[in-house]
Amino acid sequence: MKGIIVGGGIGGLTLGIALHQAGIDATVYEAAPVIKPVGAGILLGTNAMLVMKKLGLDKKLQAAGQQVYNGAVTDGKGRILQNMPMEMLEKHFGVTTTAIHRGRLQQILIDALPKDKFIIDKRAISIENGAKPSVTFEDGTTAKGDFLIGADGIHSVVRQSIFPQIKKRYSGQTCWRGVVSMVLPKEKQFQIKEMWSKKGRFAAIQIAEDLVYWYAVQKVEAGGKDNLSNLHQTIIPIFKEFDMAEKIISKTPVNQIIRGDLYDLKPTRPWFQNNISLVGDAIHAMTPNLGQGGAQSIEDAFALTRCLQKNKDLTSAFQQYEKLRYPKAKFVVDQSRLFGAIAHWENPLMISVRNFVLRNSPQKIFMKQFVKLYEVNY
Ligand SMILES: Cc1cc2nc3c(=O)[nH]c(=O)nc-3n(C[C@H](O)[C@H](O)[C@H](O)COP(=O)(O)OP(=O)(O)OC[C@H]3O[C@@H](n4cnc5c(N)ncnc54)[C@H](O)[C@@H]3O)c2cc1C
Repeated sequence: MKGIIVGGGIGGLTLGIALHQAGIDATVYEAAPVIKPVGAGILLGTNAMLVMKKLGLDKKLQAAGQQVYNGAVTDGKGRILQNMPMEMLEKHFGVTTTAIHRGRLQQILIDALPKDKFIIDKRAISIENGAKPSVTFEDGTTAKGDFLIGADGIHSVVRQSIFPQIKKRYSGQTCWRGVVSMVLPKEKQFQIKEMWSKKGRFAAIQIAEDLVYWYAVQKVEAGGKDNLSNLHQTIIPIFKEFDMAEKIISKTPVNQIIRGDLYDLKPTRPWFQNNISLVGDAIHAMTPNLGQGGAQSIEDAFALTRCLQKNKDLTSAFQQYEKLRYPKAKFVVDQSRLFGAIAHWENPLMISVRNFVLRNSPQKIFMKQFVKLYEVNY
């Protein structure tokens, strides 16, 4: 059996690795003409690290990134609203949440694939759906397989070819993010603390000994553009009330600040048509409010591989994969969207109620939710 994977991001690469380890032949085709160590940071939550452990990559990722032992949501003045029980999670699951530069993560995944199974500079432009699905690339070449998986992100060409009715939804929020060469004070080095105020949200995380990843989110119309010549002066006033935000943003070169409107996809089924299926953002893009989009695409990759191993025919494998993954992916898409909306409430009364509830909710309740979120049973 031969598989074609369109897109070599987190989901496509993890799928390539999992299939290779399972003895299923598959090649990953990535649009980027060169692989550069660019991008911001990412948190690999417990579920992502559980899969990485199964694939034998957890130690490498930990060595290239930074462990996160402590998480919290605070108000604008840094007062704790809710602690996230990361150490309890580590005890429960035996893996540590890891913060890492995206470029490093991508390189570790690429290195875990045989060289001839990852081909760059292959931008898919059209898909032929049939018993032997095929893809045509921008350079005029084609590839044909027994099955084809779209791992080509939220703007997926593969999804558009089989489910053109699915449209992305704007969340109402825009995010700026960056990585800066810096060391946070010792007490902040192994934690993620997301701070909320009426103006927006901000967090800074050590992702390697000398690298800090930060993100800042504001409720704003989609489609805004930055003027690089005064970017610092534009965004620092919005976020400077947050601990260290002014220092961190002003130290980040403007050409390394990435702006992106946050979109997701409304949960929908089916996830496959004939011998074509989808993983990751291509079918369940989510807002990043729970730091789970990458982790969910990693779970997809692992679950799909198990289903392809266990089932005699592709239809049964794709059906089982969708049955296993749809409920959880839907749960996370919905919760992320809700969490983002609550974080950006503007009404002072609603904010007081929200903060009171968060401050006074027993951690046990959150722990239960986290265990549900992080379990990997494939
Ligand atoms: C601000 C922000 C912060 C986030 N933080 C986190 C976090 O902390 N933790 C977490 O788990 N998730 C996080 N996410 C979500 C995460 O980044 C995505 O969910 C994840 O990258 C999805 O992986 P993917 O492989 O499905 O898609 P992508 O990462 O988008 O990869 C798609 C790949 O396909 C390639 N491609 C696209 N079109 C084509 C084509 N036509 N032909 C061939 N190749 C193509 C692209 O070049 C890319 O390499 C965050 C997202 C945002 C926006």
